[in-house]
Parts: sequence; structure tokens; C-alpha cells
Amino acid sequence: MHASDRIRKVEAVVIAHKEYGEADRFVRIFTQETGKLNTLAKGVRKIQSRKAAHLEPFTHAALVLARGQTFWIITQAETLHAFPAIRDDLNKTTDASYIMELVDKVSTEGQPEPSLFRLTLESLKRINDNPDTYNAVRYFELRFLDIAGFRPELQHCVACKKTIKPEDQYFSPLQGGILCPQCGQLDGKALSANQDTLRYLRHFQRNSYQELSDVVVPPQVRMNMQKILSVYMASVLEWQLKTPTFQQQIRDKTRGVD
Ligand SMILES: [Zn+2]
Repeated sequence: MHASDRIRKVEAVVIAHKEYGEADRFVRIFTQETGKLNTLAKGVRKIQSRKAAHLEPFTHAALVLARGQTFWIITQAETLHAFPAIRDDLNKTTDASYIMELVDKVSTEGQPEPSLFRLTLESLKRINDNPDTYNAVRYFELRFLDIAGFRPELQHCVACKKTIKPEDQYFSPLQGGILCPQCGQLDGKALSANQDTLRYLRHFQRNSYQELSDVVVPPQVRMNMQKILSVYMASVLEWQLKTPTFQQQIRDKTRGVD
């Protein structure tokens, strides 16, 4: 057996953990090198264990893993970013949990997804560092949809294919994009998407985070945009459960970018 088959060094973000036995803990991690992994941290609940602090949810850590009989065992852990503000602020905790839940749902054991790893890490930093996390979370959602192959169509009506005019529109979570006023009125499940909301959605879809970090989204647009993205995200995740090709789409996309 080659050494790398038994010992692995990985860079990871902790997704979640669960108590196991008297002193151990299962730790689910999202790694840069090999995607999602379920690992075992032995003895971390003993008082003298110094490993536990490095293995809290959201922590970005450098880990050394050794292959056990069933699971990879965490033998060394060192925190790279602890993200203390995420832990101290309930709203930030909620935002970070939302992101990690999406990552957990779409990532696969043993399958590296470098673009998604980078986006996750950058988003956690932004949530930690910014008093207002709105732009960071919306940016995460739109890039996540790009990576997953569900980029919403914001230029043409998804039903009649006509170019969208500058007026109030609808958004179809089922068809994944904007519906013109004529098509939107025929779709009972479409959400309203006013002109300003569409403008900000396009702006967020088109630009890098650096170009968006100072953008202040007006209050009524914030709610409309968040609703559209969260309903669409829920539809996408529902399809994902029924569509085995979803993981493949992520693989293809991430391979293309890196
Ligand atoms: Zn139309």
C-alpha cells in the first residue's frame, strides 16, 4: 500500500459533527483535495484534548488523516481560520449554516470540487468580516447556481424567449428564469420580479464580489431578491434529489474552471 493511501493531508471546512461513543466524534468535512469526507476524531471529548477546538463547524483547518478500518481518522488538526464572528453572532451563524447545508447537499464523498471549495471559503470570510452579510450570501447563491449548472436566465423570457424589456416581470422557479408579463400572468407559481429586483439580480450575476461589495441594495429589493433566490434554490435542490446527473454537472463545471 502506498503511503498516500494510508495518510492524507487535507485543507477542509468542517460541515458538522456528531457525538460517537464515550469520547469520540464523527466530523463531516468538505475538503479541497477530495470533496466531502466523513471522518472520525478519537478522544476529542476528553478534557485534555486540544483537537476539539479545531474541529468546530465552519472552521477552516489543515488536517492529517489516517485510514482506519471504516473511516478516515483525524490524527492532527490545525486551525487556519476560526471565523470567531460567525460563532458569536446568531445571524452570521444562520448564514454560514445555510451555505454549509447547500455544500453538504451537493458535494460528493471523494470527489474534489475546487471552485465550490474556494467559493465556500471566501463566503465564510465575507460573512465573518462584514457587518451586513446580505451581498455575500446572495453572491454565494448566484455563483453556487452557476457551478451547479442552474444559472438563472435573466435576459430572455424562459417561456416565449423574447428579450426582456425594462418593466416589471415575473420569475419562474420551475423554469429557472424570468417570465415576461404576458407569460408570467399565465403561470400560477411565478413570483413577481419588479424592474429594480431584476436589475440587481443581473448586477450580482454579472460582476465579481469585489465590484459588489459596496453596493447597497434597497430594502424592498432585498426582500424580493432573497425570496426569488431562496425559492429557486429550494426547487433546484428538489431536482437534485431526483436527478443523478447533478453531481456530474458540478464535476464538469469545476473541471472546466480549474
Ligand atoms: Zn414570455
